[in-house]
Amino acid sequence: GGVIGILGGGQLGRMLSVAASRLGYRCHIYDPSPQPPAGHVAQHVTTAPWEDVQALAQFAAQVDVITFEFENIPTATLDLLEPLRPIRPGRRALSVSQDRLTEKEFLRSLGLETAPFAPVDGPEDLARAVDQLGMPAILKTRRMGYDGKGQARIDTAADIQPAWDAMQGASAILEGFVSFSQEISVIAARGVTGEVAAFDPGENVHEAGILRETRVPARLNGRQRSDAVLLAAKILNALDYVGVLGVELFVTPDALIVNEIAPRVHNSGHWTQNGCSIDQFEQHIRAVAGLPLGDGGRHADVVMENLIGDDLDRVPELLRTRDVAVHLYGKPEVRAGRKMGHVNRIIR
Ligand code: ATP
Ligand code: MG
Ligand code: MG
Repeated sequence: GGVIGILGGGQLGRMLSVAASRLGYRCHIYDPSPQPPAGHVAQHVTTAPWEDVQALAQFAAQVDVITFEFENIPTATLDLLEPLRPIRPGRRALSVSQDRLTEKEFLRSLGLETAPFAPVDGPEDLARAVDQLGMPAILKTRRMGYDGKGQARIDTAADIQPAWDAMQGASAILEGFVSFSQEISVIAARGVTGEVAAFDPGENVHEAGILRETRVPARLNGRQRSDAVLLAAKILNALDYVGVLGVELFVTPDALIVNEIAPRVHNSGHWTQNGCSIDQFEQHIRAVAGLPLGDGGRHADVVMENLIGDDLDRVPELLRTRDVAVHLYGKPEVRAGRKMGHVNRIIR
């Protein structure tokens, strides 16, 4: 037993709490918002701002280890928590992935491929970067973007100024457009003793910047499949990582190109709940609690589909469909573009 502290109480924190509870742990969620989805299943919830020194100290005193479901935790929050309890995965993984520029430089330092990129801190930088990288290109805020938010595509010169305006003054990077045949992701874990276990790569379909579907197995040859897993292990080792990591990749005829990494359980790993004996959530809890990892083996082909906004109306029908497992997040209100749940369809 013991108490696992989780920073962030969204659906990922919720599913982590369920997995922890199956292993006999209790969870304590820390989230600034009043009704976090994880609040219904975790045993303890602290609702306080990330800057609340007293609430953070109390939270730390009540848990044995701290993890997170959300990578945009302010650095100051971590500074306060770090001396009090182990944070897994550690600080470096978080700071590297919080900033797209640091992230790409880190990945390149490991010899991995990324999209061509250039930092953009003003309109002159942007003009120069477009000259250098060509079009199409994508301008992205360096920090805080998710689900395709904080991005603007540049196809012609007329898109340049509006793209800069869309950044609202934030530091950005321009990325050259990768013309990929597929997008895949590797969900992999590393334990406290350095053992690594990876799940089978999944093939991802995005719609309007949001993940729509993940399918396993991904359509890859043997070489691509093992390269994908090996590069994830390389990232885990370089960060001395403990926990589950998501690595998003573009597949081209010549290479696997790393798009971004997420230092946490990942939406494209939800298929593991119904495709593996040990899913990504249990794997993460095992890692941060210092338990042996599960092996990550897959026992079925699965299509995971996100339920976004009004997709929730399809739940009654989905519940009547054979071989479909429905997972709902209990969010208080439906909003367009909001992830409300997902389904895992077992393919026999
Ligand atoms: P997430 O919710 O996964 O964190 P995000 O907001 O961080 O998303 P990205 O993963 O950077 O956004 O981009 C979202 C999607 O946009 C990608 O999955 C891909 O489909 C497309 N995309 C992003 N960058 C590029 C690129 N350089 N070339 C081609 N397509 C891209
Ligand atoms: Mg992202
Ligand atoms: Mg992404």
